[in-house]
Amino acid sequence: MSIPARQARIGEVLREEGLDALVVTDLVNIRYLSGFVGSNGVLVVTPASRVLLTDSRYTAAARTMVEETEVVIAGRDLMDRLAEVVPQGRVGIEAEHVTVARRDRFAGRLSGAELVPTAGLVEGLRVVKEEEELEAIREATRIADAALSRLVEEGFAGRTEAATAWALEGWMREMGADGASFDIIVAGGAHGALPHAVPRAEAIPADTLVVVDMGARHAGYASDCTRTLATGTLPAALEEAYAVCLEAQRAALAACRAGVLTKDLDSVARGVIADAGLGDHFGHGLGHGVGLDIHERPWLRQEGGEVLQTGMVVTIEPGIYLEGVGGVRIEDLAIVTDDGCEVLTRVPTDLTTTSI
Ligand code: ZN
Ligand code: ZN
Repeated sequence: MSIPARQARIGEVLREEGLDALVVTDLVNIRYLSGFVGSNGVLVVTPASRVLLTDSRYTAAARTMVEETEVVIAGRDLMDRLAEVVPQGRVGIEAEHVTVARRDRFAGRLSGAELVPTAGLVEGLRVVKEEEELEAIREATRIADAALSRLVEEGFAGRTEAATAWALEGWMREMGADGASFDIIVAGGAHGALPHAVPRAEAIPADTLVVVDMGARHAGYASDCTRTLATGTLPAALEEAYAVCLEAQRAALAACRAGVLTKDLDSVARGVIADAGLGDHFGHGLGHGVGLDIHERPWLRQEGGEVLQTGMVVTIEPGIYLEGVGGVRIEDLAIVTDDGCEVLTRVPTDLTTTSI
């Protein structure tokens, strides 16, 4: 699907919602619908037209980037020209992305319109990926896999957690990534019990587990992968946690297919971990969608619920966190298909010992 096809689909969504226009302020949604990549833009979509407001820094670039979209160069404050391009009537705003202050300013500039809070209209289109998007995610995954494989082979080589994170990011950039898709996590020993640990300037300890959570960005699209590496002989509790986490991860991958409810897939992994008596140590959801955003719909967790569809890209990442001891998380990225899933991540998930 191309950008004009996405525009046609959002036009249909507006008709279904009874909206005369949607003011798109989330920059990722703007990129998805128009092709514009920049730090300041507002896209006004009606069932039949698109107008991008941006500032003079993007005069030349915007016109080459966008497709089927009129570009209006406003002052740095895009609100100055807003009333010219927004029709009267029912006008949707993205409630999840607009601050209260900005909504008040919209209301001040668009006095003739009825502002309607909306949620997830563009995100709903983004959940199922097009072939071109899948190709970008595959390439981002290949790059991250290569960097992680290099770490496994080379070992930590005396690097601290923070230096390891920087090395991984550098290798990914050398291999063509636009950058890391999020702040890389490297967490050894007891630090690994924090699911979102920040890498420290501390040596990687021996005889423990090290959680390495990383991803690359390519052509705007993210990848996401976690491997937990051993640095020698493990204490029994961590060895058991690894085995249980891997069993849970494999069970969830085996159950992942179109038609399955996200919460049911979460339950598959959660059940394996609970049966091993470690249910209290898996606090977060099983996974999330990945695309232009590193975390996006669908959410694989107990709350809410969505049916998996062919073409969704999701992570499967159970974790077990033992406070004061260490943690394990194993995360693959997969494309949902009619009869299963295509696992993109190629780095093996069997327990791997790496030198420090
Ligand atoms: Zn991750
Ligand atoms: Zn993730």
